[in-house]
Amino acid sequence: MQDPMYDILQKYFGYTTFYPLQEEIIREALKRRDIFVLMPTGGGKSLCYQLPAMIFEGITIVFSPLIALMKDQVDGLLADGIPAVFINSSLSYEEIAKRRRDLCSNAIKILYIAPERLVMPEFLQFLQGLKVSLFAIDESHCISEWGHDFRPEYRQLKTLKEKFPDVPVMALTATATPRVQEDIISHLRLPECRVFKASFNRKNLYYQIRPKEHPYHQILQYLETRRAVLALSEAKNDSGIIYCQSRKTADSLAASLQSDGYRALPYHAGLTPEVRNENQERFIRDDVEIIVATIAFGMGIDKPNVRYVIHYDLPKSIEGYYQETGRAGRDGLRSDCILFFSYGDKFKIEHFIEQKEDEKDREAAYRQLRELVQYCESHVCRRRVLLAYFGERYEDPNCGHCDVCVEPRERFDGTIAAQKILSCVYRTGERFGAQYIVDVLQGSESQKILQNRHDTLKTYGVGKEYSKPQWQSFIRELIQLGYVDLSGDKYPVLKLNEKSRKVLSQKEQVFLTKPEEPRLVQKPDADDRYDRELFELLRALRKTLADQEGVPPYVIFHDTTLKEMSIYYPQNLSDLHRISGVGERKADKYGELILQEIIRYCEQHKIKPMPVADKRFESPVKQPRSSTILTTLELCKENLSIGEMAKRRGLSVTTIVSHLEKLIINDGAGEAISVDCFVSPEKQERIKQAYKELGMHFLTPVKERLGEEYSYEELRLIRATMARKGEE
Ligand code: ADP
Ligand code: ZN
Repeated sequence: MQDPMYDILQKYFGYTTFYPLQEEIIREALKRRDIFVLMPTGGGKSLCYQLPAMIFEGITIVFSPLIALMKDQVDGLLADGIPAVFINSSLSYEEIAKRRRDLCSNAIKILYIAPERLVMPEFLQFLQGLKVSLFAIDESHCISEWGHDFRPEYRQLKTLKEKFPDVPVMALTATATPRVQEDIISHLRLPECRVFKASFNRKNLYYQIRPKEHPYHQILQYLETRRAVLALSEAKNDSGIIYCQSRKTADSLAASLQSDGYRALPYHAGLTPEVRNENQERFIRDDVEIIVATIAFGMGIDKPNVRYVIHYDLPKSIEGYYQETGRAGRDGLRSDCILFFSYGDKFKIEHFIEQKEDEKDREAAYRQLRELVQYCESHVCRRRVLLAYFGERYEDPNCGHCDVCVEPRERFDGTIAAQKILSCVYRTGERFGAQYIVDVLQGSESQKILQNRHDTLKTYGVGKEYSKPQWQSFIRELIQLGYVDLSGDKYPVLKLNEKSRKVLSQKEQVFLTKPEEPRLVQKPDADDRYDRELFELLRALRKTLADQEGVPPYVIFHDTTLKEMSIYYPQNLSDLHRISGVGERKADKYGELILQEIIRYCEQHKIKPMPVADKRFESPVKQPRSSTILTTLELCKENLSIGEMAKRRGLSVTTIVSHLEKLIINDGAGEAISVDCFVSPEKQERIKQAYKELGMHFLTPVKERLGEEYSYEELRLIRATMARKGEE
């Protein structure tokens, strides 16, 4: 007979396999042992107590810090057919009384409460009268003053073992420092607990550090490219979080994004709780796509489809950075983590640290900053550095998912550039920062330069062959490589050292990274090989259903589930059951509507789906391309023009072009289709030239430059080939 654990996994949660450690943890929980679970965000902690809750006879009580999120958590369980409730101060007295009756009558399996409830003697007594099978303590690091999120109310939990000596406790957290772990275990009095630590490697996160030059422009460029390359064109609902240091930045960034046509809202401690909640809510419900937040945002946010986390400013520590980036991609799909790094930010933070009264605090803050800067400067795999920070070894020489591994940059003999910089530092008396040196090299006529008479120097204006950001990046690299020092706290200046002198006296050659514009968006992964049109339809349907029920869209189905549907085109309920994330309750409740939509779509597009029974039970990631795109590929092989293909398939030219774009970008070397059939070689050359001059992010200026003879379709196809070859 099938293990009951697996039955429940399939029946309620709609999954067929466990994530790493889940099964071991659950087996141990069923033995009623105390357990400590350390798992990164997205690791699947909730299942570790929710599944046993369905096997235990009594009630599982979950302590959770955020009242605002309890409702969503409970809604999620109810949608899976798991009887759950929460009790907190947002409810009326009558409602609480009703819920308590339900609990007493054993109709409920999971109860969510906030820890402060334990101080109420009457409530404590009530709990003692229930048959409690397990206490699960979510975000348990909140109990520790050493954690990044200490909450005094969590201290109440110290008394659990005393008041309920026979009830096992499961403490869960994603905070990895050993100090916090020890704290949790000792405060909760769990000396004998079994400890489970999952790897902190978040495989689906793509880490990248970019020099912070014109950050707003860089973000816009990222968003635009994302839309273009991922063919998101009209769909604006691809969620992301942008973190910044100050409230002011958060407000102004959100406003700018709004005026550029993005739905963005700020989130910070300067807003009233009502506005904050409202903004958070709208983000969770996919009504806005971007939250621009100070670090006050994010804990406990279960939103699984955050596709990117951008650090506009330097975070304070690696720990914080890891937590914040960790909010991307909980659903396991590829997501981007971009940090904009500048030495200016570093000095700003140092300035703040300087103001700290307590010497110990100051030292700790400096240490954290130093570690973070080292991480940003390093040319070693980001993943390796991050995991090493948490004491985990990562041996893979190429993680394939960070800027260092994926974009190893070419080096060139940069001796002359280095000499220009160092000589300029020398001639200006080692009294200036990078910005000023670059200005001198570029021959700027700024007041300051003229006053200092630096326009008379030999190095004045000798640096016109590179752009300002390029010179800045050379200087950064020289600092990293130790060819020049940076000294002074508030206004750091460049100083020569032994190595500088070797370069200046021609005794040492310097190799620098060849300048190039960084690519923020990578080629779409294999996990983007789903039928995007169908996905959008299903997503719209999901949103309607979610709004009707007043729950966040992910409570109905996750993106991963919709993507899988858009790969397999399930045609009946038994097909639908095989899609990951579809349990019995959801199949009953939404199955019919979903199937209708899919069947109609298949008829319209003449798609003959393969039986879902053939599907390997895996995430959609490694699955073949959707068949609508394959059909287009077939037509390509018949040498039809785009117009003919569109006609033959009854689709618009734009849709065919988007299929071709995907084929070009996804398949690279594979069954590459040649754009030569669609765009003549001369035209290709001229289009590429125009892109090189005007950038690839906006089509209109390129179109205007080239004139009537060139169509948008042609421009899009060439852009796709350039994106594939990384010519951006
Ligand atoms: P955590 O609390 O550790 O951040 P969650 O419990 O929110 O993680 O789970 C992260 C995501 O993974 C959720 O979308 C959840 O539905 C999904 N998930 C959890 N366990 C499994 C599993 N065994 N198979 C597939 N998806 C899972
Ligand atoms: Zn790497």
